[in-house]
Amino acid sequence: MNEFDTIIIGGGIAGSSAAFHLANKNNSKILLIEQQTISSGASGLNAGQIGSTGWGNIPDLSSYLTHGSLEIFKSLQLDLNYDIEFRQSGSLAAIQTKVQYDFVMDTVMKMKKVGKTVEILSTREARSIEPEISENFLGFVFYPLRAQADPVKSTVAFSDAAFKSGVQININEEVKNIVQNSDNTYNLQTSLNNYYCKNLILATGAWSNKLGKLLDLDIPIIPIRGQMWATKPISPRLFNTFSSLESSYDWHNDDGSDINTPPDLTHISGERKTRHLYGRQRKNGEVIFGGDREMLGFNNEVDFNGIESNKNHATEILPFLSELPISRTWAGFMPFSIDGEPIIGKIPICKNLYIVSGLASSGFGRGPMSGKFIAECVDSGFVPEILNDADPGRFKQLAG
Ligand SMILES: Cc1cc2nc3c(=O)[nH]c(=O)nc-3n(C[C@H](O)[C@H](O)[C@H](O)COP(=O)(O)OP(=O)(O)OC[C@H]3O[C@@H](n4cnc5c(N)ncnc54)[C@H](O)[C@@H]3O)c2cc1C
Repeated sequence: MNEFDTIIIGGGIAGSSAAFHLANKNNSKILLIEQQTISSGASGLNAGQIGSTGWGNIPDLSSYLTHGSLEIFKSLQLDLNYDIEFRQSGSLAAIQTKVQYDFVMDTVMKMKKVGKTVEILSTREARSIEPEISENFLGFVFYPLRAQADPVKSTVAFSDAAFKSGVQININEEVKNIVQNSDNTYNLQTSLNNYYCKNLILATGAWSNKLGKLLDLDIPIIPIRGQMWATKPISPRLFNTFSSLESSYDWHNDDGSDINTPPDLTHISGERKTRHLYGRQRKNGEVIFGGDREMLGFNNEVDFNGIESNKNHATEILPFLSELPISRTWAGFMPFSIDGEPIIGKIPICKNLYIVSGLASSGFGRGPMSGKFIAECVDSGFVPEILNDADPGRFKQLAG
């Protein structure tokens, strides 16, 4: 009764997509266990931005995770008829200074050479697409393929589709203990029951290090707090998603000397290093923005100084936001690996143990394909070459 071919721990976008994609293979018996509700982690708390610059001439892992995921989101909405509020809206990134302009010109030229879809627009051209943006910029990077969708609806759609294909979904059940048996099967003890499985998938986002400890593993995933704010709903005024070049430029110039923190954070030891920005207008009319990424353990209290700084940054690009008060704020934990790259594949040191994590600040947009990849690994027992850069075995404590 409690025996499964595969158990997936974690009902975020990675685990739900893995469940959906595994359900369509081989009639195997699959259980997904989530300690709270589906999408209660980062997958339900994010900005809903989906990044892609297309496959390019020679698709690499990043193209697969971003553009592959985009195609899956599209299919969820258009073929499986889930209303996930998907729109391939495009995205605009503001260029504020000459050094940012030179940096991004160089980056965009390189991207175009390998067939990626991206353009630099003058501010006038950008204002013809998005009339609300300020004139005070040197230009905008335009990503026409980028998209947006509702985070909760999308994640729940995957778990619902998985459930309809026969996956057992148990929510409000926390995995408390895991034992690897001598034949490399697993026994799980949860807050409600005991289970047995052949294959185990950790899709536990920012909690992956905690789960690893149950198996005496040190999985190098660190929870990074991301926080956001929203206005009250207003009539439609924004169509694209938005960002700014300030953080990309600063992170590009970071010498990477701090080996104890993941890359691309806005704060180090409580001190702001850069301002990061992302946001959009939701279908319900709320304008939502966020940006800060801070390493604070599992502390998800909102820092209002950071929220104010983020709102000022957004208002530089979209001046009408100065008229709109903040109506709510929230925070969640992004799963950053110590090297900033995803961790997707087999954990070599334990047989039949798989992980899909480290999706960091862009795991909503990359989650669907990451889940599909891990489902294919479990189903075939084979890890495709394209996942080499995400190999858990690159960390010596996980290597076989
Ligand atoms: C504020 C914010 C804004 C963001 N904006 C964007 C964005 O616009 N675009 C983008 O692409 N990405 C964005 N991200 C990042 C993105 O949300 C994450 O990378 C992604 O959701 C990670 O998905 P996941 O499935 O790996 O983890 P999660 O969604 O966190 O799922 C892990 C699940 O595991 C469960 N779990 C943990 N331990 C146990 C246990 N012991 N037993 C059972 N269940 C357990 C948790 O409850 C959780 O539901 C943002 C993140 C935040 C916080």
